[in-house]
Amino acid sequence: MGTTAEFTEWIRAYAHALGFELVGFAPAVRPPHAESFLLWLARGYAGTMDYLPRTAQVRIAPTALLEGAQSAVVVGLNYAPETLPETDYRIARYALGDDYHTVIRAKLETLLNAICALKPEVQGRVCVDSAPVLERDLAWLAGLGWYGKNTCLINTHRGSYFFLGVLLLTIELAYDSPAEGGCGTCRKCLDACPTGALVEPYQLDARRCISYLTIENRDAIPQEWRRPIGEWLFGCDICQEVCPFNRPREHQPLRAVPTREARFRPRPLPSLSELLTMDEPAFQERFQGSAVRRAKWHGIVRSALVVAGNSGNPRYLPLIERYRHHPNPILREHAEWAYRRLTECLPEAESAPRPPSHRAEG
Ligand code: SF4
Ligand code: SF4
Repeated sequence: MGTTAEFTEWIRAYAHALGFELVGFAPAVRPPHAESFLLWLARGYAGTMDYLPRTAQVRIAPTALLEGAQSAVVVGLNYAPETLPETDYRIARYALGDDYHTVIRAKLETLLNAICALKPEVQGRVCVDSAPVLERDLAWLAGLGWYGKNTCLINTHRGSYFFLGVLLLTIELAYDSPAEGGCGTCRKCLDACPTGALVEPYQLDARRCISYLTIENRDAIPQEWRRPIGEWLFGCDICQEVCPFNRPREHQPLRAVPTREARFRPRPLPSLSELLTMDEPAFQERFQGSAVRRAKWHGIVRSALVVAGNSGNPRYLPLIERYRHHPNPILREHAEWAYRRLTECLPEAESAPRPPSHRAEG
């Protein structure tokens, strides 16, 4: 354990033992893509995510997060589920299990405690989504993966279904080389994106991305994107699903293997009908400890109305009907849209609103 290289390898082995499949080391420097991030913000691509410009300077400066930071231990935790749950809507893979913030933070804190037990003079700071720009750039520098045209970090052998986490340390370590690789002439993600959010390679206009529209956006979902949202209730995986680096091949069985992390196994999900009848306390309880809570009850019902409208299934009409008179104007308007969308493609007999059951019985 005497040399820097030995200590670095000890940390690597410990991190692997904690379940991190990808582990690398980089100097804690200003991210090489900091300028691109600032340009992306200046173009307005962050939409209403005001916290991004507000915290931009912290996100591109490791020493603003930890004074005296010298090194970054960068880890990747696979979240690809073995199978997708059978539901009448879709949720991005990363949100199917327990909230990743809690899982990764706990593991990185265990790692930090182990490091401090050996070297009490070392200070550390765990970053999980607190500085995503920094995390992705440091992950590239630490050799974990390279940037795909879909803006995800891609590991040539393991794909992109990874959460990233960073542990900043005030100690020098032996650093890995930046990852090599690239998309080549492929442009499957750009062609498959249903809203054209990948406006050019490596450029995501979040305002058009289903992930932003269904999670971060607190307003009405612009009408033009409601049909392309299809069955996505929370997030979207399309640009990762089509990526050749996530598709297992016989001769490269390592690609996108299922997660070994028990807490990322898909939780049981309510049906779309249940979502449309769930009140806020029931939603909070059902999604306790899940990343889905980020969209809040109101956001989930708003997306559920869009999904129901896109379903082509008249059995959702009575549930949609309940929201046509809701006090919340956004839910009311989405219900109106969903109602029109469903009825316009149904034969007249099916589209007539059904009377509430008590009146039918009376
Ligand atoms: S997550 Fe979906 S909507 Fe967003 S860029 Fe990827 S494919 Fe497009
Ligand atoms: S789908 Fe193709 S272009 Fe897009 S990230 Fe994957 S390899 Fe790159």
